[in-house]
Amino acid sequence: MSSDEKRPEGQQPLHPRTRAVHHGTRRSQYGEMAEALFMTQGFAYDSAEQAEQRFIASGPDEFIYARYGNPTSRMFEDRVADLEGTEDAFATASGMAAVNGALMSMVKPGDHVVSARALFGSCLYVLDILTRFGVEVTYVDGADLDQWRAAVRPGTRAVFFETVSNPTLEVVDIAGVAEIAHAAGAMVVVDNVFATPVFSRAASQGADVVVYSATKHIDGSGRCLGGLICGTRQFVREVAEPYLKHTGGAISPFNAWLMLGGLSTLDLRVRAQADAAARIAQALQGHPGLARVIYPGLADHPQHDLAMRQMGSGGTMIAIDTGSKDAAFRAMNRMRIFKISNNLGDAKSIATHPATTTHQRLSDEVRAGLGITPGLLRLSVGLEDHGDLTADLLQAIEG
Ligand SMILES: *Cc1c(COP(=O)(O)O)cnc(C)c1O
Repeated sequence: MSSDEKRPEGQQPLHPRTRAVHHGTRRSQYGEMAEALFMTQGFAYDSAEQAEQRFIASGPDEFIYARYGNPTSRMFEDRVADLEGTEDAFATASGMAAVNGALMSMVKPGDHVVSARALFGSCLYVLDILTRFGVEVTYVDGADLDQWRAAVRPGTRAVFFETVSNPTLEVVDIAGVAEIAHAAGAMVVVDNVFATPVFSRAASQGADVVVYSATKHIDGSGRCLGGLICGTRQFVREVAEPYLKHTGGAISPFNAWLMLGGLSTLDLRVRAQADAAARIAQALQGHPGLARVIYPGLADHPQHDLAMRQMGSGGTMIAIDTGSKDAAFRAMNRMRIFKISNNLGDAKSIATHPATTTHQRLSDEVRAGLGITPGLLRLSVGLEDHGDLTADLLQAIEG
């Protein structure tokens, strides 16, 4: 098996778009052009001695069992780590396997975790699980650095937040939180789904572990589940991997193979989606039928400057407040191009009503505290023409 050539010394670093097409490709003796799909759970050894040796220490092209690693999955891991600017990555069965794996593998009873309150529902559930095993969790308002400062203490093992929160698009200051966390000796674990690997500079801004649901923008066509834990080689291979390989959180090689295809077009897609999102947000801003348009790329967003500094883009997601559940439902039911669903980052534009779907489990009070009003709609902007999408939304709101 051979890898794509390394760049000769002294040459310009390759653009991320180039690396997202090529990096990490491993070719078999056939020299196949597309990444090979190694749809195999196991690997045959030449001898008993070789099997013994491999269980003691495996080389980079030596695999044991797909729950531990697989050549197709490894190509996916190497390519994402390269894009993210981390030493390594472990690919998981879903985004939630990645969130759970990153957090569970690093804590023990008596540890303390500080987390932003505004999280995806399943992330809140994982933090709840931690508390069953003697981990104390303190919740803070992610945008308020003073609250992080007040919450961390010497036993704080990790801080956790979504860099752009779901669904209210609050932007958390990665560098600011990292400075506070690192001073207390805590690891910074971020769920970076909304920022996407295209706009992410999370590792260079102080995140120690960057977690993705690859189900979203990386697949980009809403076909399969996957996730990633990106970090130092030591964390990924010595902390996260042992936990994941023994508890069964590995990605299917087939999903990794689909996701590799997704990575080749990720940069183009996400930039086009973010560009359309910015235009749509501008077109909706100030509309009399809307109580609020939330988009980090708009100057009136409370963390607009931070979003530009941290990601250089407002991203692919918009939230609008239609004023009431009735108005939100009426608008959704009138949409023709936007589909009513709950994925995001898909080529197809999607409208979600968080209060009755993704965040239904929360009490009215908790939802209100998170800014998830009855009229709030989360919009994932896809790859359709932005003019068509704007017209679709306008007719839906005005109907
Ligand atoms: C979707 C999502 C997840 C979970 O990812 P799955 O692939 O669905 O398991 C976690 N965090 C955020 C912010 C998400 O949007």
